[in-house]
Amino acid sequence: MQSASATKFVWTFGMNPKASDPDLRAEGRGDMKELLGGKGAGLAEMSRTGAPVPPGFTIATSACRLWSERGGTLPPEVLVEIDVGLTQLEEALGRRLGDAKKPLLVSVRSGSKFSMPGMMDTILNLGLNDATVEGLAAETGNPRFAWDCYRRFLQMFGNVVFDIEKESFEHLLVKTRKAAKVSTDAEIPAEKLKGLIAEYKKVYSQIAKREFPQDVRTQLALARDAVFQSWGNARAVTYRRLNDIPDDLGTAVNVQGMVFGNTGERSGTGVGFTRNPSTGAKEFYGEFLQNAQGEDVVAGIRTPRPLTELERVMPEAFRELREITSRLEKHYRDVQDFEFTIQDDRLFMLQTRNGKRTGFAAVHIACDMIDEGLISEEEALLRVDPDSLNQLLHPVFDPEKRQHVLWDAHGLPASPGAATGRVVFTADDAVSRSAQGWPVVLVRQETEPNDIHGMHVAKGLLTATGGMTSHAAVVGRQMGKPAVVGCQALRINLKRKTLTIGQKTVKEGDPISVDGSTGEVILAEVPTVPSEVIQVVMGNRKPEDSQIWGGFERILAIADRYRRLGVRANADIPRDAKLAFAFGAEGIGLCRTEHMFFDEDRIPLVQAMILADSLADREKALAKLLPLQRADFEGLFEEMRGNPVTIRLIDPPLHEFLPKRGDIKAEIARVVGPAGGVGRKSSPPEEAKRLEALEDLLERVEALHEFNPMLGHRGCRLGITFPEITRMQARAIFEAAVAVSKRGIKVRPEIMVPLVGDAKELANQREIIVAEAAKVLEREGVEVDYLVGTMIEVPRACVTAEKIASEAEFFSFGTNDLTQTTFGMSRDDSGSFLTEYVSRGLLPADPFARLDREGVGELIKIAVAKGRSVRPNLKIGICGEHGGDPSSIEFCNEVGLDYVSASPFRVPIARLAAARAAILSRALHPERAKRVEGLPEKKAAQ
Ligand code: ADP
Ligand code: MG
Ligand code: MG
Repeated sequence: MQSASATKFVWTFGMNPKASDPDLRAEGRGDMKELLGGKGAGLAEMSRTGAPVPPGFTIATSACRLWSERGGTLPPEVLVEIDVGLTQLEEALGRRLGDAKKPLLVSVRSGSKFSMPGMMDTILNLGLNDATVEGLAAETGNPRFAWDCYRRFLQMFGNVVFDIEKESFEHLLVKTRKAAKVSTDAEIPAEKLKGLIAEYKKVYSQIAKREFPQDVRTQLALARDAVFQSWGNARAVTYRRLNDIPDDLGTAVNVQGMVFGNTGERSGTGVGFTRNPSTGAKEFYGEFLQNAQGEDVVAGIRTPRPLTELERVMPEAFRELREITSRLEKHYRDVQDFEFTIQDDRLFMLQTRNGKRTGFAAVHIACDMIDEGLISEEEALLRVDPDSLNQLLHPVFDPEKRQHVLWDAHGLPASPGAATGRVVFTADDAVSRSAQGWPVVLVRQETEPNDIHGMHVAKGLLTATGGMTSHAAVVGRQMGKPAVVGCQALRINLKRKTLTIGQKTVKEGDPISVDGSTGEVILAEVPTVPSEVIQVVMGNRKPEDSQIWGGFERILAIADRYRRLGVRANADIPRDAKLAFAFGAEGIGLCRTEHMFFDEDRIPLVQAMILADSLADREKALAKLLPLQRADFEGLFEEMRGNPVTIRLIDPPLHEFLPKRGDIKAEIARVVGPAGGVGRKSSPPEEAKRLEALEDLLERVEALHEFNPMLGHRGCRLGITFPEITRMQARAIFEAAVAVSKRGIKVRPEIMVPLVGDAKELANQREIIVAEAAKVLEREGVEVDYLVGTMIEVPRACVTAEKIASEAEFFSFGTNDLTQTTFGMSRDDSGSFLTEYVSRGLLPADPFARLDREGVGELIKIAVAKGRSVRPNLKIGICGEHGGDPSSIEFCNEVGLDYVSASPFRVPIARLAAARAAILSRALHPERAKRVEGLPEKKAAQ
């Protein structure tokens, strides 16, 4: 198989539908997506199951790679295979490409391993020319149909192969429709279509400076190469970048016999889902258009009818469609997203794939499928993308406020969630306006792949035409953006940038709100409130009243049974700790004590501490901070109810706390006055005093000024030079611990020393902490279990980890700083070049968002191995931003960390990602499963 697939470039399907052996019905299989692309693999698998699939063949992705390597040519052996495939297809259908009497018409369809909606274009009706169109007309006795096919072909071919803008054809079509006084394309008579085609050919010679090729083999070769070429087009590249799809996969080309949904009212075409992709409800869902071909449905030009109506119009075909698609769902054990065409009452399946879905739907469907016995718990977890859980936390409109606003229009509820923002009309405007800080709602007649960048930044989407499977709907659901589509009452004037609904007209920048769960559109700002999940978490809604919460909680409870990694939260204040605990955090992995000081009334105290130029002054300031810190710690300990709380000693970005030099100078100038007021005899003594204080301050701030604060006097360096700061913090922690444990609540502080690069630094700080702990605990006669450890955030700490581990009871990787110090690049200054690095492929992803396994990851591995070599039970976690990123969590699971710590809102994502990582790693390394399981137990989830 392996060697055959490496050398075989063309794979046929659907040629022998009656054969009893599935291997004769299709050469390929559903699990060959890498080689055949998703579409090709799906067509092969459908043919195997006996579904009615028009025959055809798939040119493998390996041919696309060869084609690119060879600068746009195919080796002869591939060309021969294609010829053989074509001959087989001609025989299966009893038609020949280019035959004037019985012409074979084919579609040429792209398809790579990952489905990329609308990214690469399909050509339908290839094989038509001035001679074969007459043959088709005579054969079907339906010239209107034949000429309609020809005109569609000229449009698609011109657009895909010769890059002629769709608009160049579209306006001629509109003109013809007007001249014929009809409202739909299907009503244009054959004679008028012939005239239109003559005009289309002129477009070819005028715009593309090339003639439309009458030779059908040339058509096929050009179409095939255009598909290969389209792998590299800008929108495909953008899509891949947004979705982390590698650039070197290549696309397959599917050449398939045409079936026609545009022969009349007994024909049609449609798309659907076996379950609702927006909510997850178990219902047959989709839409169709009568007398229409291919792209008409997805393109959103005509608003299609719901699939349920097909039952009335063509009951036979409907029943068969239901039966086949439910069989496919069982076969694939996942929701299917399918395309079909009915030609004169006969059903043909054209595509099936696992359906994309919203986070809501993913959770709902996973739970249902477990209950139906269709999938196991492990599979259910693998079906829910951790990041998509975010959508369940999205705000909804405030029901109170909502009651008092009437909606202005209604569209289709294509992607759930509520969005409120300002109107923009183009993708480019969406980008530039949101860069200016506007929350934008992108309003379009219909969206298309070129709008992706605008859709990405928009808070919500609204379109006037198109159905639940239009581009805006599909992409909206995928991005988790609220979307309302097919809002027919909308009148958009692109030139003047206005939109009108009934009597109301608004312009760019005016407020608008859309509810993607109900389809409502409101020309006003409507305040939003937290999602149902958040309401339950905050105790404002009963869990049993929310189905969404029910599914969310259930999936996470299952995840907790499969994960090995513990999940903690980064929380600095009791409010965040409470939220994190409700989301299932099993402790705090990082409390940044300096964040406790950002409060307005506390900043002066911190400034006093930093600016103090004598020990006595500093101790005075610290004494004022002590009770405030103690109270914060008490709150954190209480909220975490016996779970560990990691407190990092102060690591202040000094410059953030200090007044700006410029501000002080300005203030001095103001006090002095324009004529040098202070100092003159008349100036009051308090002003002179103020001036003196300001000058002192300026001097001190100047003395503390750092050229590079990131690498400056911070972290443990501060605690080493000013031990009284460490002493105060340790005292606050232990006094809080004592107070809380006296209230009968268990406390487990873990004190973390920041920015250690050498074991002696940690030893120094540890001594202070232990001494202070002994003092407080002895005085109070209370015992508290505590650990002293360090944050690993500089490369030196990683490579000397065995020495550091002799002083540390735990390590926590501070991967934000570790990434900065490993790359030697400051995150805050990387904006100007990192994006370019990623887009040029110099880095696979932003290393501050996704852990760089090759560099930073290698240092982590070294530190883990060295650390555990001297202290086998060393507790190790991660507390950088990466602790909430699924790919980085997978790495943490691989290298045997004990826990990850994420921001409160990402705790649910981390729980699910950790479970998926454990399941995948068990599947990949069954032999390692035991060893990994044998690691220190994570705390049982509450
Ligand atoms: P996309 O990936 O954009 O969905 P497809 O290759 O699936 O592109 O095709 C676009 C449209 O053309 C779909 O509606 C599909 O059903 C239709 N189509 C493709 N091949 C055929 C065919 N052989 N006969 C009839 N319709 C086809
Ligand atoms: Mg397409
Ligand atoms: Mg398709």
